[in-house]
Amino acid sequence: MVQKYGGTSVANADRIRNVAECIAATHSSGCEVVVVVSAMGHTTDDLLHLAREVSDNDHPRELDMLLTAGERVAMALCAMALRDLGVPAVSLTGSQAGILTTAAHGAAEIVGIRSSRVRESLSEGRVVIVAGFQGVDPDSKEVTTLGRGGSDATAVALAADLEADECEIYTDVDGVFTADPRVVPNARKIDEITYEEMLELATGGARVLMPRAVEFGRRYSIPIHVRSSFHGRPGTLVKEDTMEEPIVRGVAHDTSEAKITIHAVPDNPGVAAAIFEPLAEAGVNVDMIVQNVSHDGVTDISFTVPNRQIDLARHVSNDAADDVGALRVDVDDNIAKVSLVGAGMKTESGVAAKMFRVLSSHNINIEMLSTSLIRISCVVRGEEVESAVRGLHEAFAVGSDQETVR
Ligand code: ADP
Ligand code: ASP
Ligand code: MG
Repeated sequence: MVQKYGGTSVANADRIRNVAECIAATHSSGCEVVVVVSAMGHTTDDLLHLAREVSDNDHPRELDMLLTAGERVAMALCAMALRDLGVPAVSLTGSQAGILTTAAHGAAEIVGIRSSRVRESLSEGRVVIVAGFQGVDPDSKEVTTLGRGGSDATAVALAADLEADECEIYTDVDGVFTADPRVVPNARKIDEITYEEMLELATGGARVLMPRAVEFGRRYSIPIHVRSSFHGRPGTLVKEDTMEEPIVRGVAHDTSEAKITIHAVPDNPGVAAAIFEPLAEAGVNVDMIVQNVSHDGVTDISFTVPNRQIDLARHVSNDAADDVGALRVDVDDNIAKVSLVGAGMKTESGVAAKMFRVLSSHNINIEMLSTSLIRISCVVRGEEVESAVRGLHEAFAVGSDQETVR
């Protein structure tokens, strides 16, 4: 069994002792247990803030050294609490646990796991506590972090490598909801959801699971159980198929992106490549792209990028705009994305039309659009996103079983 405890679940000494009791109970039931922990409470945010106070410059390597300390604190304290309960436990950093990653500081991807040390400790009857969110680049031996929410990815990747029966993600809500319960008070807990839908919700901004964790789950068929660390009731099971296939499973929103518009781009073959190639080379994650109809041989191109890459994206876009002879570059960081997700959309028509009608009835303008087979996303003004989420949640009645399930 692999269990992951998020920041709120290990926020203070009492919570850590509680968590240790839950782990001890699982261990005494005869399970081999690997535990992945996040940093306590808001530690990661506090460390990021501290770094900014000390320096205005980017120090990707040192930032990763700093941030990985957060998880290291939590793992050691958890191991101490377990040992006090008489449970043999050992804590390991990501690197000691054999979590091998790419070299990208701050956004590294797990590329392999050398779990011999974890397996050895398990075979000696120990509970192994692994620091989440971190790994090591096997070539440079540098320590890396996996991006925000990365402990989820550590947990599911370990579960896959160790062929665990299930990966439990313990968090501060009861499971995956039909919308962020902090924004929509009557959001409903979902009992079962497919990997496919969960991936769309997660990439749409439902931060309860990191997208990469869902990808690992899907690739290696590891059921993921998202549940509360405050009580023992079952949460949400993320798996291959579900009994029901609702048209709309949930609504997600994301305020972590910004929009860049390049004005009056000459409308010639190769121009889009000349803009997006340098962005890709710089490692900017472009999400939505919209190109307008051209007038007089020029067109506007807009796209969204993560807020945290805004300076880099602006710089690369300015250079690219000069190269292709475009007029100017605008950056707008007051945008948000709202997404409707549901496997039943594959065969249902009219969902997009209804979504647009609902947004217009709330006087919300749609600035960009993108769709997949089971998702429709709209970019709207930042201050309008919460009313968009609530309006859509209400209109598609995802809070009620009857209307969403066919
Ligand atoms: P942890 O520290 O346990 O990893 P996170 O803060 O990363 O917790 O994720 C849990 C939070 O995700 C919840 O507190 C909730 O506000 C937010 N959230 C956003 N969308 C959803 C959703 N659809 N279902 C559940 N929680 C959601
Ligand atoms: N502590 C890291 C973060 O806050 C990783 C995690 O919690 O999953 O993003
Ligand atoms: Mg998280």
